Amino acid sequence: MEIVESDIIEVKTKVMNLALNMESMNILAIYVHNLIQDFTEDESGAVTPIRSRYIHLEPHGFTPSHISELLRGQQVNESQHIGERIANKINRSLTKDRTLREPIFVNVHVEFVKERRLVLPSEVPASFEVFQRLVEEHRVDLKGDKETQCSICIEDLSKSQQSIIKMPNCLHIFHQNCLFEWLSQKNSCPLCRSFVQPRIKK
Ligand SMILES: [Zn+2]
Ligand SMILES: [Zn+2]
Repeated sequence: MEIVESDIIEVKTKVMNLALNMESMNILAIYVHNLIQDFTEDESGAVTPIRSRYIHLEPHGFTPSHISELLRGQQVNESQHIGERIANKINRSLTKDRTLREPIFVNVHVEFVKERRLVLPSEVPASFEVFQRLVEEHRVDLKGDKETQCSICIEDLSKSQQSIIKMPNCLHIFHQNCLFEWLSQKNSCPLCRSFVQPRIKK
């Protein structure tokens, strides 16, 4: 089994009006979260916050360069990229929602998500040994069998000139070509998802 890690940066913004008599400047509040997201085989993952930081800023304008500069000052990674995303979102809100008037209050959540995904053996291509085993030991002749279908291409297997494979564990039947195309992506039965193991050497 293999663990694949990927980094995702999520930026969520909420733009609100400020009471005019209370404030005369725009306010930008940025919360930075570092999260680890673990996905186990049944996809029920746990989210663990590691660190959160609150930045209260009063910029003169919501330009990408200004926001990036403020983020850089707070040692936030990828400040330029995040600054651009925040500025774009704020400007989009201001054009879309005509009720918004500066000065505004902007609440931003930046989440650095490290996604760790457990890759099961059935989610990777079948190994050479699996293909070899299927060809050598699981080719079947359907002559005399009752009518049956290859559920990958929905064709009648008994009328086909192609080689036919019967899966070792679940006994599901497919055209060899149809099945091998599937197995080059996932090492499992296309119908019931049971894992296809390579031959156990004695
Ligand atoms: Zn087929
Ligand atoms: Zn099956």
